[in-house]
Amino acid sequence: MGEPVIIDGASGQEEFAALYRDLHRHPELSFAEERTASIVARTLAGLGYEVLTGIGRTGVVGVLRRGEGPTVLVRADMDGLPVEEATGLPYASTARGTDPAGNEVPVMHACGHDVHVTCLLGAARALAGDPGWSGTLLLVGQPAEEVGSGAKAMVADGLYDRVGTPDVVLGQHVGPLPAGMIGLHPGPAFATSDSLTITLHGRGGHGSRPESCVDPVVMAASLVMRLQGIVAREVAGADTAVVTVGVLRAGTKVNIIPGTAELQVNVRSYDEEVRQRVLAAIERITLAEAQASGAPRPPEIVHTDTFPVVVNDPDASARTAAALAGVFGPAAVVDAGAVTGSEDVGEFATAAGAPCVYWILGGADPAAFAGAVGAAGMVRAMEGIPSNHSPLYAPVIEPTLDNGIAALVAAAKAWLGASA
Ligand SMILES: [Zn+2]
Ligand SMILES: [Zn+2]
Repeated sequence: MGEPVIIDGASGQEEFAALYRDLHRHPELSFAEERTASIVARTLAGLGYEVLTGIGRTGVVGVLRRGEGPTVLVRADMDGLPVEEATGLPYASTARGTDPAGNEVPVMHACGHDVHVTCLLGAARALAGDPGWSGTLLLVGQPAEEVGSGAKAMVADGLYDRVGTPDVVLGQHVGPLPAGMIGLHPGPAFATSDSLTITLHGRGGHGSRPESCVDPVVMAASLVMRLQGIVAREVAGADTAVVTVGVLRAGTKVNIIPGTAELQVNVRSYDEEVRQRVLAAIERITLAEAQASGAPRPPEIVHTDTFPVVVNDPDASARTAAALAGVFGPAAVVDAGAVTGSEDVGEFATAAGAPCVYWILGGADPAAFAGAVGAAGMVRAMEGIPSNHSPLYAPVIEPTLDNGIAALVAAAKAWLGASA
């Protein structure tokens, strides 16, 4: 595994970059973040934080109390993804992990959660050495964001009974904006996500005798195409939804008609009414498609995970944006709009009854945006950059880490009290 990099009070830019590369080389799947959690715990303890581990399985929280004042929770998620890294970087991951089905899979920090962890620990160092605040700081290393259950697991495991309830929940996600920019959208900012597994039942048999079978492959193919009509024909032009069939599985051999086919479908939306409408349409179309094909029994539809919408409290966003603008300049803090990505950070805020502020940290090489004019130019430049979850995703180390640390420190201090 290699010796982990542990930063301390004297660490600077070079040590943070080394920590980042170390985390990048050693990604871990959801709820398997043992090595990462231990680095977070050791670092926080070394910096003088009271540390609790094993909250919601692999979750960690560091607590620093400085008398009277607000309680501020800063969250970083820690998990990687089952993706085979293709960046070719000298610090690329070759790690393997075991997925929930028991298969060995490649693992990569393809979502940039290694940036989040490094920035959290950089901010931990800066805030521990900064006498200019009072109150309570809760630094959370969260497991299993990618499966939408880590935040819930930490809350359910009594996080707030153990460390107190925060007055605000803050966090950031690295994204394809140029490094140096921050995107903060007040209101619903990250979409609701629902994942469904659909099993279609046919009647298997010899590939040469389709007349004696009900072919679930054809049923699945037609269902995939039919589902594309939901957003196009059943969702209003002014509303937003995405329906993606990410997995389609059937069959074992060319001359066998299989007995079943499986689809995994992901739905994104911002509005509960739109969400219900899309989910109902998927169920209606799936049942009807099976019936139209003469399926021997109805399909099963299992809801596998749900991420709630992340709503950035407008007043809290304005207060935080002002602090960020103080560091990066007003032009660098933009409202880049809502994104269709999803996040479970809102679980911490909902459980606390506290406002949430979650922003996008620019992590793309600013050179890729040279010459980009206006919003349209920015969007075009962004299309050429591998996005989160891509096997080629590679945020630029600096100035991303410096900015991510500065953003967390500024945002936390905008909420903590002044020192006595
Ligand atoms: Zn992700
Ligand atoms: Zn992520």
